[in-house]
Amino acid sequence: MAEQRDPYDVLGVSKDASADEIKKAYRKLSKKYHPDLNHEPGAEEKFKEVNEAFDILGDPQKKAQYDQFGAAGAQGGFGQGFGGQGFGGGDFGGFGGFSDIFDSFFGGGGASRNQNAPRQGRDLQYEMRLTFEEAIFGKTTEIQYSREETCSTCNGSGAKAGTSPVTCSHCGGRGFIQVQRQTPLGRVMTQQECDVCHGTGKEIKEKCTTCHGAGHVKKKHAVQVKVPAGVENGNQMRLQGQGEAGFNGGPYGDLFIVFVVDQSKEFRRDGAEIYFNQDISFVQAALGDEIEVKTVHGNVKLKIPAGTQTGTTFRLKGKGAPKLRGSGNGDEQVTVNIVTPKNLNEKQRLALKAFAEASGKKSFGEGFFEKLKKQFKD
Ligand code: ZN
Ligand code: ZN
Repeated sequence: MAEQRDPYDVLGVSKDASADEIKKAYRKLSKKYHPDLNHEPGAEEKFKEVNEAFDILGDPQKKAQYDQFGAAGAQGGFGQGFGGQGFGGGDFGGFGGFSDIFDSFFGGGGASRNQNAPRQGRDLQYEMRLTFEEAIFGKTTEIQYSREETCSTCNGSGAKAGTSPVTCSHCGGRGFIQVQRQTPLGRVMTQQECDVCHGTGKEIKEKCTTCHGAGHVKKKHAVQVKVPAGVENGNQMRLQGQGEAGFNGGPYGDLFIVFVVDQSKEFRRDGAEIYFNQDISFVQAALGDEIEVKTVHGNVKLKIPAGTQTGTTFRLKGKGAPKLRGSGNGDEQVTVNIVTPKNLNEKQRLALKAFAEASGKKSFGEGFFEKLKKQFKD
């Protein structure tokens, strides 16, 4: 697909243009470049471009989507379904999609879809950053974001107090009009969404002064979020009805919270299992010991059996992260790393020599230590 121009530029309106200004600009330009009226080269492309721009800016839902996410947003929404565990699925809003493009191109859309039917509002996405610990233990927090809410002055009708929307005179309330359209297959008669009422079949003569006819107003919205214990990076949670206001009395959309979890310097986590590396001395490994090991639940005692090899993994039952599905915690798996001592003092060296002799490894012990001793004596 070719790079799409900014629809605001195409229609020559500012980013904060009202629905009315956008509509006016579109009507002017679509008349100017209409293939039936304008036979100059390039007019047809312009006409198509103007229609595409209005397809986005003329639809409050697509426009809001475009304003927030750019061209990709207006076309397809954020359809990347993180495989959330046990939370709502990845069913992002039902706009865009291939069949919609196909329909509107060939004119099926305006006729087949009842624009007056209640429609659910747009879904929103909120990225929430969590520390490693917050993800494990959960937390309750309040988040704030701005969203389109139903205008309380007009209750979403868009009409001024005391008035109501009337049947659209342009399309007779049908919501669509018959137009000739140039397509790669030739000129065809198609049905197009009415550009006066945007397919609603209703016209607002006197607009609500609060929302200027949109029926929605942008508002700051706060919501309490209870982050469940045990969430992981990329999990998402659906909060029903916390998205944007619906259309024609339809319900609010949903809010999808996507968790972004910080990594820990000490621990590594995979689901409910936590992994931790613990250094021990070779004496502890050889003789055995009881040590204190760090866990996300505080320090825990761990018995190191005599004769432990480096790389051995011990399991601390229930000291991992909570299981998001099911109950209880995972484990902490502690892998020990035996540290070879450096910079031995004389006493330690002698002790090791004695150890080597006791082990019957004279060739290694004598050769190495005798040489060292001689160096000191000479
Ligand atoms: Zn209003
Ligand atoms: Zn109409």
